[in-house]
Amino acid sequence: MPDPVRIDGSFGEGGGQIIRTSVSLAAMTGRAVEIINVRAGRTKPGLQPQHLAAVRAAAALCDARLSGDTAGSTSLTFEPQSPVAAGEYHFEIGTAGAAPLVVQTVLVPLAYAAGISKVSVTGGTHVPHAPPVEYLQAVYIPALRRAGLNISLSYSAAGFNPRGGGQIEVEIHNSSTQPLPTMSPLNLTERGKLENLHAFVVTAQLPEHVAERGAATVERAMKAVGRIVVVERRDKASSGPGAAVVVAAQCKNGFAAFSSIGEFRKPMEKVAEAPCKEFMRWWKSGAACDERLADQLVLPMCFAHGESRWTTPAVTEHLRTVLWVVQQFLPIEAVLEEREDGSGEVRLQGIGKPQS
Ligand code: ATP
Repeated sequence: MPDPVRIDGSFGEGGGQIIRTSVSLAAMTGRAVEIINVRAGRTKPGLQPQHLAAVRAAAALCDARLSGDTAGSTSLTFEPQSPVAAGEYHFEIGTAGAAPLVVQTVLVPLAYAAGISKVSVTGGTHVPHAPPVEYLQAVYIPALRRAGLNISLSYSAAGFNPRGGGQIEVEIHNSSTQPLPTMSPLNLTERGKLENLHAFVVTAQLPEHVAERGAATVERAMKAVGRIVVVERRDKASSGPGAAVVVAAQCKNGFAAFSSIGEFRKPMEKVAEAPCKEFMRWWKSGAACDERLADQLVLPMCFAHGESRWTTPAVTEHLRTVLWVVQQFLPIEAVLEEREDGSGEVRLQGIGKPQS
């Protein structure tokens, strides 16, 4: 039995991403992990409901023995007892903690388990500092599909602060008889032509004019810069009122999305303007991915066959941190090129498949 991987959770960004990435990798490699200083970089350190749900979700996949899995705990041990098993899973966060982050924790491990998996996660679907569901649908999953994974995702209810209660459903369509999928490396360096510009105006329990004003704002902002945007209005079931706007771009070789979450007394025009401005800034940068996708691609691309490359408008602490985490588990060769203007390029040599 190899020694457990020891992770200092205060490294770099010092947030929840270190925990989620570590437990995904522990599940995939079958190696135990011990994490100390959990979320030491945050004002309220330790495991919060969203992180606990992610840890327990990863543990359910590989029957991991856990210790320190309590609210506020600043240390955690995760010892897988069996290989990741495909199947049907339901995970409940219990708060408005971000369900998309729990989905991301289990998605890549399940993508490498033989057989079909169906996962549902209940929690926040549109909450600050996390990808909204449309980000997974329009950017993250299309990027993984491009690499060869067969995943689909929908959501039957939206979950906003403070109630949560949103419901995401994911399917991973692996054959139970074929060998495991092989993921091709991605080359997202020169974005190429803009093939698709979409905006999602999501509302729940709000008057219709709110969605109309959100849609009109996006259309006006994009028209002003000569872009045609397809606006999709989604009036969702939810246990509380809420709104969000997501602007998503797919290029020949690039993916990016930007979002903004509604707040009490914040005019919908302001909610809708923010992601349009971010899109335009990204467009001018020339990068093929947005800066969040840049950190989210690191874990899946570790298992692609060969070198993946992607460009980002900004090298973030999240990106540096996740590169460090994967290298604690796997012999990953990665180069992070940082340019003077803060933009950068990642070149990462994938190892082909999990080593268990
Ligand atoms: P903490 O509370 O410690 O910050 P966390 O788990 O909620 O924990 P991070 O460790 O900061 O958060 O990780 C957040 C992840 O969500 C990162 O991968 C980041 O790229 C992604 N993310 C944050 N905001 C967005 C957004 N608006 N769109 C897409 N992805 C996002």
